[in-house]
Amino acid sequence: MNAPTTSQQLKNATALAGNIPGARSPSSSRSVAVIGAGITGVTVAYALAKRGLQVTVFDRHRYPAMETSFANGGQLSASNAEVWNHPGNIIKGIKWMFATDAPLLFNMTPSWHKYSWIAEFMAAMRNYEANTVRSAEIAIMARKNLFDWAQAEGIDFNHEKRGIVHVYRTDKATQHARMVNGLLEKAGLDRREIAPEEAKQLEPTLAGDVKGAFYTPSDTTGDIHKFTVGLAEAAKRLGVRFEQDVDVQHVSAGNGIAVRYAKDGANSTERFDQIVVAAGVGSRAFGKQLGDRVNVYPVKGYSITVELKDKAAQVEAPWMSFVDDDAKIVTSRLGADRFRVAGTAEFNGFNRDIRADRIRPLVEWCHALFPGMPTEHVVPWAGLRPMMPDMMPRLKKGRAPGVHYHCGHGHLGWTMSAGTAELVAENVLQEVLA
Ligand SMILES: Cc1cc2nc3c(=O)[nH]c(=O)nc-3n(C[C@H](O)[C@H](O)[C@H](O)COP(=O)(O)OP(=O)(O)OC[C@H]3O[C@@H](n4cnc5c(N)ncnc54)[C@H](O)[C@@H]3O)c2cc1C
Repeated sequence: MNAPTTSQQLKNATALAGNIPGARSPSSSRSVAVIGAGITGVTVAYALAKRGLQVTVFDRHRYPAMETSFANGGQLSASNAEVWNHPGNIIKGIKWMFATDAPLLFNMTPSWHKYSWIAEFMAAMRNYEANTVRSAEIAIMARKNLFDWAQAEGIDFNHEKRGIVHVYRTDKATQHARMVNGLLEKAGLDRREIAPEEAKQLEPTLAGDVKGAFYTPSDTTGDIHKFTVGLAEAAKRLGVRFEQDVDVQHVSAGNGIAVRYAKDGANSTERFDQIVVAAGVGSRAFGKQLGDRVNVYPVKGYSITVELKDKAAQVEAPWMSFVDDDAKIVTSRLGADRFRVAGTAEFNGFNRDIRADRIRPLVEWCHALFPGMPTEHVVPWAGLRPMMPDMMPRLKKGRAPGVHYHCGHGHLGWTMSAGTAELVAENVLQEVLA
């Protein structure tokens, strides 16, 4: 199984999790290894612990959420659920390949991983509509779970509930957005077209030439790193063991699961009944070790966090969250003193360099749309989106018994994880109880 086929499946899994108060004795003897302490690993660990399973999370960093779940765009956005497998994006992408400041950068160096991924991306264009609707359904359910968990566990993550505004700079782009709106409506999302002046009323600091705008009141924003760390603490309270600063070197299945890892210069192997691979862009390699093909490609993106050091800077920065679909840029206000701007897609393998020529367009974008906001203090960051060619997360069971995947969430991992984690945890529980 890949992504859930209906929202009913998600509702069932969510309802079931909500009915489980804590440790459930029939399954408490079953052990699960989770590889990765990003948003996908921590959400699934929490969902598994709520089902009474004994969970151990492995991660090579000292703290949770230190890779892609560190400084992303911050949007919990069902409104951004459109998958990228559209012919219009291919045409734009080809044009962008020849401009250094374009939203897309493609390293042409031959690589089987990259070109096979592109071929599968093109083949998935036939599922563009169905996958967009399904992504939006997952996002709607997942957002609700995330809000409930944050409230139940008292997690402060600079949550802003003001909605999200999409802006468009051309009539053609606005026309496309109307078509996308039809798909999002099918999924049950209220995303309405508003006049450009209305967008400026919703956010008085907005400048620039806006031709079209759409508003999604139910979308929100927040700090993914703060949330993930907070949920990891909640998972610990439910008994989850976190093995941080640990490099997982090999996993194998057959007669149980073996996880071999290095910690403090020593190698160890531990055995488990089940495993969930939630290793972000590392999931493909673990899939291979377990006999499964999980074609996650690392699609690099960048963010800047504008530090708003004084009151004068703070009033010039927007509180409303934006998606600029033409520039492929998203924004969020993280409390009074931080404004996050994120975007760009770079096909350059596992390269994690923060390039000045990719950061500059994000700063210039701020100057064009929010000219009053000072950008004197800007913290740049780059992260690798774990992206599947069809843009749908992998939530499937592996070939070998006890193997599960929670990975490949691409550009919407923050939005979707609290929903997809429930589905995967439910699959694990069903296998335990079988
Ligand atoms: C610029 C940018 C903007 C974005 N904006 C948004 C947004 O606004 N909204 C949204 O919904 N999504 C957004 N995303 C996507 C979202 O951030 C990702 O989908 C999500 O963070 C991926 O989480 P993950 O858990 O899969 O990966 P990660 O957070 O990378 O976690 C994987 C973990 O696995 C660990 N690991 C891997 N291999 C090993 C090993 N061998 N041993 C030990 N540990 C290992 C890593 O250390 C890492 O901590 C954005 C992404 C980027 C790059």
